[in-house]
Amino acid sequence: MIDFTLTRATSLGQATELAATSPTAQQGATVRFIAGGTTLVDLMKLDVETPRQVVDINRLALANVSRNVDGALWVGALGRNSDRAHHPDVVREYPVLSQALLSGASGQLRNMATTSGNLLQRTRCTYFRDTTFSECNKRTPGSGCAAISGNNRIHAVLGTSEHCIATHPSDMAVAMTALEARIHVQGAKGDREIAIADFYKLPGSTPHIENALAPGDLIDYITLPAIKPGTKSAYLKLRDRASYEFALASAAVVAQVEDGRIRYIRIALGGVGTRPWRSLEAEQALIGKPCETAKFRAAAEAALHDARPQSDNGFKIELAKRAIVRALTTVTA
Ligand code: SF4
Repeated sequence: MIDFTLTRATSLGQATELAATSPTAQQGATVRFIAGGTTLVDLMKLDVETPRQVVDINRLALANVSRNVDGALWVGALGRNSDRAHHPDVVREYPVLSQALLSGASGQLRNMATTSGNLLQRTRCTYFRDTTFSECNKRTPGSGCAAISGNNRIHAVLGTSEHCIATHPSDMAVAMTALEARIHVQGAKGDREIAIADFYKLPGSTPHIENALAPGDLIDYITLPAIKPGTKSAYLKLRDRASYEFALASAAVVAQVEDGRIRYIRIALGGVGTRPWRSLEAEQALIGKPCETAKFRAAAEAALHDARPQSDNGFKIELAKRAIVRALTTVTA
């Protein structure tokens, strides 16, 4: 770990000003915000992240949950994952989010990790995290991708490019994608709101650019849109072991059923995409359809139609399909 300066921010303005000089406040930058530190400190110890200045934002008043006039829930960026997962409004109205949060990491990590830090988790690709491998376009742009010809069992099958095949690791972000969350940002461009569908970037030829944040941007809260009456939701995560493990495939489903037919449906996948993966194809295949296993399977086939396996991860395609069918069965029962 290299030497760095730690500054405790006492206001949003001070925090964003400190970070505005950095190429970006979020990815591999010289100035980084820190809250729970459950990702950043790991990556600093590994010399993957080498910031010269770390801005502690824990003193900012950004941990509250409040209700908007339209029924949406405003979730402060610095709430801890454990608190979010057990918040009564989240448990009652957004069980998919509560379940996703509780499926991630360990109890200790959930007590530290924050909502915005979870959104900004970086990939678990071994080659990204181990600097003895020189080829990683995400860590060192233009250096190549060791995973494509290497061990790629945990890597993505959707949204990949010839430059990067890494998955996004967050469970929470998959649930928020199904919930169509909106991310609120304060920064040099002023206040703005980014739909989660526009927040994460596909790797393309620039896998080191992971999201839509600009220099100095700080996430202050997330909006969870109001849930329609009668809506149910669930998160199913499939992994190598039952806890403290990342998804090989996961499915977040939000659905409303009337008279045995699907009237509203949102489906997002984790563990298989280079970003939290909303499947419009699966949703289109289901809208207006009866709640039948054959229809669920057809939707799952549509969701994975464009999947491109690597040498070691072809099994993820069938795994993801089964996760979709199982989650749909649970939610529509
Ligand atoms: Fe780096 Fe992405 Fe390739 Fe992993 S998959 S080695 S993160 S470029």
